[in-house]
Amino acid sequence: MAASAPITQDVLTIPRTEGASVGKLNLVGLTRDGLREALIAAGTPEKQAKMRTGQLWQWIYQKGVRDFADMTNLSKDYRTTLAEHFEIRVPEVVSRQISEDGTRKYLVRIAGGHEVEVVYIPEEDRGTLCVSSQVGCTLTCSFCHTGTQKLVRNLTAGEIVGQIMMARDDLEDWVPAGKGMGEQPRLVSNIVLMGMGEPLYNFDAVRDAMKIAMDGEGISLSRRRITLSTSGVVPEIARTGDEIGCQLAISFHATTDETRDKLVPINKKWNIEKLLAALREYPKLSNSERITFEYVMLDGVNDSDEDAHRLIKLIAGIPAKINLIPFNEWPGAPYKRSSNNRIRRFADIIYKAGYASPIRTPRGEDIMAACGQLKSETERARKTRAEIAKEAGL
Ligand code: SAH
Ligand code: SF4
Repeated sequence: MAASAPITQDVLTIPRTEGASVGKLNLVGLTRDGLREALIAAGTPEKQAKMRTGQLWQWIYQKGVRDFADMTNLSKDYRTTLAEHFEIRVPEVVSRQISEDGTRKYLVRIAGGHEVEVVYIPEEDRGTLCVSSQVGCTLTCSFCHTGTQKLVRNLTAGEIVGQIMMARDDLEDWVPAGKGMGEQPRLVSNIVLMGMGEPLYNFDAVRDAMKIAMDGEGISLSRRRITLSTSGVVPEIARTGDEIGCQLAISFHATTDETRDKLVPINKKWNIEKLLAALREYPKLSNSERITFEYVMLDGVNDSDEDAHRLIKLIAGIPAKINLIPFNEWPGAPYKRSSNNRIRRFADIIYKAGYASPIRTPRGEDIMAACGQLKSETERARKTRAEIAKEAGL
């Protein structure tokens, strides 16, 4: 394994102080059990703690309330106690850009002064929020802008679920007072863990956040509306099925180990064969719950007819859909996007073999919000083109 392409976790621990109110525990992101325990520690009688947890979750995750004083089904004294011990805090918006196509890109600041990007993509029948799981990424996929960002820390569950809350604030997507859930269309109807970072290198926080997103008293989205994208952290794939149960997308991108080693260096640790074996075991796989194979179209690198045929052979037997992503360029990127004709021809071969092969329309390109373009300005300790090329073995 080349020492120049680190594929193990290498997360810096950075003190988190900025933004936190001294001594107050943020309730956002606590699991049900965690919240229950926190309430008991603050004097809530044990017998009531479960009910209070449900009530608080509804205020926080369904109505978007941030001030305990507004929680009108709790007694005044109890609201005061809560305000003394706790806070409800979400990442702070530093900037918001709106693309010509309606895509919104937010730069948000989390504790410690770090920044991550969040993207909202409105479509006719849904609104998808692309959420980040780490500041930067420890992996170094050679076509990905985020992978050139060196400084990394894992986001907490609160910072992950907080991105959804921040977007719902901006879009005014909360359940209005006096209305029930389901009485109006949800603007954030789908979540994709496809922002900055490798979600399976931050498993526990991602799981806890997604449990809140899926809980009927939480954000209340079906697990079918949540998709986690991974570059292929094989040992965590089974756990994703068991402990989260969301839809899975795989950054596949190549049909030989030789090419995948260069594009997605984690392949040197868990190669195509090991990855596919883990996917064949993924629970609940069926034609209605298929695995999405993401495949970035790179001119002359992975886009030949032979690649398309090899891909079909490799995934035989796995209920799958192949999402073709035209490469989104970023400053200094060592690749070019395949031509439209090439992408269409590739899609056609796959489609004829019986797989859906949608070509992802790049969204928000004018504001650098498209797949793989995310990266926060503050930590732009960017690698040079030569460094990237060297690491990728180009
Ligand atoms: N770390 C996770 C999720 C974030 S990346 C993963 O790798 O799966 C989300 C998707 O965007 C991945 O499929 C990734 O391979 C793709 N991507 C990264 N850079 C890209 C680029 N420049 N153009 C198009 N897609 C890109
Ligand atoms: Fe990290 Fe995913 Fe980018 Fe690879 S494609 S560097 S795993 S964010």
